Amino acid sequence: MKALVLEQQDKTTVAEVKDIALPEMAEGDVLVDISWSGLNYKDALAITGKGKIIRQFPMVPGIDFTGHVKRSNDPRYSTGQAVILTGWGVGENHWGGLAQQACVKGDWLVALPEAIPARNAMIIGTAGFTAMLCVMALEDAGVTPQSGTVLVTGASGGVGSTAVALLHTLGYTVAAVTGRESTHDYLRKLGASEILSRDDFSETRPLEKQLWAGAIDTVGDKVLAKVLAQTNYGGCVAACGLAGGFGLPTTVMPFILRNVRLQGVDSVSVPAEHRAAVWERLASTLPESFYQQAATEITLEQAPAYAEDFLNNKIQGRTLVKIGG
Ligand code: NDP
Repeated sequence: MKALVLEQQDKTTVAEVKDIALPEMAEGDVLVDISWSGLNYKDALAITGKGKIIRQFPMVPGIDFTGHVKRSNDPRYSTGQAVILTGWGVGENHWGGLAQQACVKGDWLVALPEAIPARNAMIIGTAGFTAMLCVMALEDAGVTPQSGTVLVTGASGGVGSTAVALLHTLGYTVAAVTGRESTHDYLRKLGASEILSRDDFSETRPLEKQLWAGAIDTVGDKVLAKVLAQTNYGGCVAACGLAGGFGLPTTVMPFILRNVRLQGVDSVSVPAEHRAAVWERLASTLPESFYQQAATEITLEQAPAYAEDFLNNKIQGRTLVKIGG
């Protein structure tokens, strides 16, 4: 099969499209013909070698993909069935989706809901799946459209864009934080009614004027600290990312004086029984217009160049890698 292969040469990661042999299928494995894969922030860190994502080389990156079952050693899956995979360490410590085929555990797959065509499912991908988990975390914390405005940071990225679209469709008033003026129109089309500059999120005091009923943060570090200081009494911040850094220079004040909840969100190890429900919710919530606005399509050969663009903040929305079509 054709795959993007990562190797280490003189402690540098080298990415090249090559023809390689697939691993043998074991008990419980499913072989998938991949039609679409996504390029994510984590893939960009892996492909460029700028993040310690891959520990064993050679590795095929790609943390998410959709496709059809070619052969199955798992009785739950049959040949031709449409499936999706996100997370479980695939593309990190198990060969991933930036390839024509993947051999993965049946336990890691989700049968694609009929309402979502494969291309749309990969426009959602890990980013959209994570955005929905963040929205559900806010709902669990009692944040409703009536509670007030919800803030989304890193808003024009994959997770941020989908979070803006989901919240808007669910009736929330959405404010978006972005570092790029060029994305303002895009964010308004997705449903943001207020747009704030990332520059205004560089310094913070322990507590600031209360502005947000909830927030979805994909950035971390000083931006997250400021968001916490501006969250309303009893509000919730769902934190899933580190695009601005993994630090968190905050104080306990928002937590002990305003009852603010900081909810961590992980998409990699979500229990299998919860995943199908999240996908059903995505299928029923996202409007058709979202799929028309939020994706750039590239080839496997273009993935390394786009990985650099990711880390230089030149990407808007989701980046789809067309493999089998
Ligand atoms: P993207 O690169 O698509 O989006 C990140 C966005 O963050 C950018 O578009 C930009 O938005 C903003 N940003 C970029 N650099 C900086 C910076 N230096 N300081 C502040 N803001 C910055 O990535 P994804 O949306 O795919 O992922 C977002 C984050 O969430 C990543 O850290 C990723 O690792 C994490 N993630 C975590 C998951 C989990 O399971 N917890 C799953 C998926 C993603 P703008 O230009 O609008 O400011």
